[in-house]
Amino acid sequence: MFFHEKTYDIDELVRHNMHIHSTFSGCAKPEMTVSNIIKTAKEAGLSLIAITNHDGASKKNELAKERKIILEEIGDEKDIKILVGGELSCTGIGKFLNDEECDLQMDYKLYTLNHFHVSCWDQPEDKSPRGYAVQMLKMAESVIEMRKADCFAHPFMAGYIKCFEDKTLVTNEYTDNELGDIMEKANKKEIAWELNTSAVLGNPEFYHRYFQIGKEVGCVFNVGTDAHKLCNVNSRQFADELKRILY
Ligand SMILES: [Zn+2]
Ligand SMILES: [Zn+2]
Repeated sequence: MFFHEKTYDIDELVRHNMHIHSTFSGCAKPEMTVSNIIKTAKEAGLSLIAITNHDGASKKNELAKERKIILEEIGDEKDIKILVGGELSCTGIGKFLNDEECDLQMDYKLYTLNHFHVSCWDQPEDKSPRGYAVQMLKMAESVIEMRKADCFAHPFMAGYIKCFEDKTLVTNEYTDNELGDIMEKANKKEIAWELNTSAVLGNPEFYHRYFQIGKEVGCVFNVGTDAHKLCNVNSRQFADELKRILY
């Protein structure tokens, strides 16, 4: 379980990049070898990273095997702390791709609710922005109740929902009360919330609200760049923009 000491200081938070894909994720660039990731993260002055590869319908429970291979590649690295976790799919309300034993082996269990572009994902019956927003809230509750998650990946982000051209429509449906309630529930189970750099930059008004409500509730935030290429491993490069939007 990874749940660091609470801080809302962006300069502190960006020293951790808690969402990086290596070549085990088909969508990552070939340059995303474990050794290249470590070298880039050290050069950037990061103190902690999490490698979070995708699971998938055709590779159920394989993340546990991949983790062992990555650990071998890491060897006895001492200059930077590395968690080998996974970006784990909650594909519907109470539905998960992997068996729980697989997910429990991950050093960092980053659950994703919103890969609606993937064919194994359930679409809500009500396909309005409100329908999608409610569906994601119910899915988040099911993760909180059923799995030992460490963090939610790009929460409330709706970029993967194909039917709306305006990607802020679904996200902007959430009321302050809804955000406060779900964040409080997660907090009781020591589940953190990702400050996903591209999500924040894509909808500054919403993520300002999210950060402020999270602070009030006292929840833990983890920065993640969702790096699929080496130039996005350095989370510190986003510090100024994050501060401008979130503070
Ligand atoms: Zn994702
Ligand atoms: Zn990702």
